[in-house]
Amino acid sequence: MKIYADNAATTKMSKTAIDTALYYMENVFGNPSSLYTTGQKAKEELEKARAEIACIIGAEPREIIFTSGGSEADNQALLSAAEIGKRKGKKHIISTAFEHHAILHTLKKLEKNGFEVTLLPVHENGIVRPDELEAAIRDDTILVTVMTANNEIGTLQPVNEIGRICKAHGVIFHTDAVQAVGHVHIDVNKDNIDMLSASAHKFHGPKGTGFLYARKGIALTNLIEGGAQERGKRAGTENLPAIMAMAAALKEASENIDKNAENMIKVRNRIIDGLSAIPHSALNGDKEKRLPGNVSFCFEGIEGESLLILLDRKGVSASSGSACTSGSLDPSHVLLAIGRIHDVAHGSLRLSLGENATEEEADYIVSAVKEVVEYLRSFSPVWRDLTEGKKEFIL
Ligand SMILES: *Cc1c(COP(=O)(O)O)cnc(C)c1O
Repeated sequence: MKIYADNAATTKMSKTAIDTALYYMENVFGNPSSLYTTGQKAKEELEKARAEIACIIGAEPREIIFTSGGSEADNQALLSAAEIGKRKGKKHIISTAFEHHAILHTLKKLEKNGFEVTLLPVHENGIVRPDELEAAIRDDTILVTVMTANNEIGTLQPVNEIGRICKAHGVIFHTDAVQAVGHVHIDVNKDNIDMLSASAHKFHGPKGTGFLYARKGIALTNLIEGGAQERGKRAGTENLPAIMAMAAALKEASENIDKNAENMIKVRNRIIDGLSAIPHSALNGDKEKRLPGNVSFCFEGIEGESLLILLDRKGVSASSGSACTSGSLDPSHVLLAIGRIHDVAHGSLRLSLGENATEEEADYIVSAVKEVVEYLRSFSPVWRDLTEGKKEFIL
């Protein structure tokens, strides 16, 4: 059996998205900035995509800027808020310890430039507490940036409450919703979200395309200077085929959110129940408040990397922590943030299911993981120390 269970790293483009991209490559090649009809046709289509995407998240078309993906949107959101802060003499930013590196590394850069950053704890369940967030707000706080859903452990954050608190205190609220858009319902007005980042390749659109939503009135800072595209806020000829494909993919995903979630939750819970039977293992993050397709586990006494390689041989593509950190020896900052110690964090597994996952696949995954974990433990020195009582079990 071949099972792709790494949809949090990237998704396969949907048939609709591929057909859309091909159509625009073949038929609408004009430059949206050109004045003749071939260009204006492209411009018209581009604005249609913008309106469609805006409508899906409850925004206005002019509040959407197309970017090269989630990382760019995150960078632009944070640097824009920082510029606004500079003008107002505000230099404090609040975020969480388990954000994506596109956020955390940008915050590091801002710290070097005189900003102060408070990273809130996310506790054992992987969820930030609104009362702690409110208590951290100062007179000079300009921005709160908290992700909608975590990319490793899938936990959903109380975005609605955070939005309400930020609004009451006059603080800009940005959310990295890259894992959430197309998977859970989002309404930027209901949730008082001022800025939001999304990426097409996380919802069956093409890679290298995404968008930033910025509420009207929020002055954006350019990352890329040049022509007047995107209302002067993001220069460069628009990637029309990719943008059209993104809009088509998002429309398809959004129309099926509830149906897809229902199926994935059923399969996800079956895997969680199955893996929980493995001794000295634990689910990472809250069992209910998580993305429909996310399963994240730690197994004591093994290395996540070996687990992945052996699962791959059994046809299962999975991940251990985020794709960006694999290849480094540091354990995932996300797992450390929820209190996993280094040894335990090293034995992690993330399965992120596709919309069409089946119970049969769930059973296959569970038995494959069981087999591999048992096998790896059979010659693991750490496991031997644990079973001989030289080291204490944590899980
Ligand atoms: C994938 C991801 C990103 C980066 O998006 P790209 O389009 O790959 O740049 C940012 N944040 C989160 C939470 C992600 O999962």
